[in-house]
Amino acid sequence: PLFRNAQFEISIAKPSGLPPPSGAEIAFAGRSNAGKSSAINTLVGHVRLAFVSKTPGRTQLINFFRLNNGALLVDLPGYGYAAVPEKIRREWQALIEVYLKKRESLVGLVLIMDSRRPLTTLDRQLIDWFAPSGRPIHVLLTKSDKLSRGPAAAVLQDVRRELAPLGGQVTVQLFSSLKKSGVEEAERVIGGWLGA
Ligand code: GDP
Repeated sequence: PLFRNAQFEISIAKPSGLPPPSGAEIAFAGRSNAGKSSAINTLVGHVRLAFVSKTPGRTQLINFFRLNNGALLVDLPGYGYAAVPEKIRREWQALIEVYLKKRESLVGLVLIMDSRRPLTTLDRQLIDWFAPSGRPIHVLLTKSDKLSRGPAAAVLQDVRRELAPLGGQVTVQLFSSLKKSGVEEAERVIGGWLGA
């Protein structure tokens, strides 16, 4: 599978630290606490490959992991901590915005949302930064185990409807790191971006 045995490669704190492109990149983004680290660890099959500092106000990093086909999984810092000082918030914004708008080697964005609180203002901001690239966005509505079948299906339908103006550029699925559900679908979509 695409994500098995991913290896940590580098962390950066500033756009100037971005390594020269050395393979197709798949970025993972999401609000703090949405379940991004858990989703990455579930896909990769490690217990703690992606470790995100839970300390509000700490400068956060972009972490790069090399996949077994040479592509890179790029773990963007979680956003939306209410307690983050304005200076750190601005640094975060600049780093993510530059990365999403300018990175030529970025082939697609995986956006992780808590299925109980999807499409926050910040999620939409990220979509607005990235969508003009024309490259695909795949939404993982995670923690789907916390919803029963009917409400989960309703959230999936609502989010698809909300993002319908973007057409086929956006795909949406339910995911649960706890139940390990949705893993194959995510691998299929993301693998498709890499021609796998
Ligand atoms: P991050 O800040 O986006 O990286 O979020 P984490 O992956 O650290 O997850 C935040 C919290 O949600 C943790 O307490 C996780 O155990 C929990 N969590 C993450 N994914 C799931 C899931 O699929 N199901 C459930 N029930 N809890 C989850």
